[in-house]
Amino acid sequence: MKCQKCSREKENGYTYSFFYGKQMIENVSQVDGGLIFHAPNFRTWYKIFGQHNSWICNDCLRNKIAFYSSLLALGCFFISLSILVSPIFLILSFFGLMMIAYIAKLMLSGREDIGDRMALALNESHMRETYGYYGFLTRKQYKKLKSQNAIQEET
Ligand SMILES: [Zn+2]
Repeated sequence: MKCQKCSREKENGYTYSFFYGKQMIENVSQVDGGLIFHAPNFRTWYKIFGQHNSWICNDCLRNKIAFYSSLLALGCFFISLSILVSPIFLILSFFGLMMIAYIAKLMLSGREDIGDRMALALNESHMRETYGYYGFLTRKQYKKLKSQNAIQEET
């Protein structure tokens, strides 16, 4: 199969996928005859037009995970630096911590979700420009929003 990421013919890989459509933001604020003003309340949901599949080889997926690992190492480096050097580096350690938390969450999400995110990133701008879609969800995000009733299929 041809990998969409490296454009090479590879033997080992998986099909990853994501959903595309439009993100809708609806004002569901309560109106009280104009007398009492409530904080505006917005509900976000997605109109889904379809699902896009991309085949990505295992080498490209491993490279992505290796990239995350090096970012994690960098984050840990900043934290140790801030402990060793001075409070000036506290701000760096704060960013380091945020980065560590974010990357760790990505890595823990598993192969399928990392691949889905790669597939999404590879196709997003093309689908945005060509078809005008501006709402994209990995299968994991789709499942979660579906359970929250925030998905509407437009088929
Ligand atoms: Zn590849």
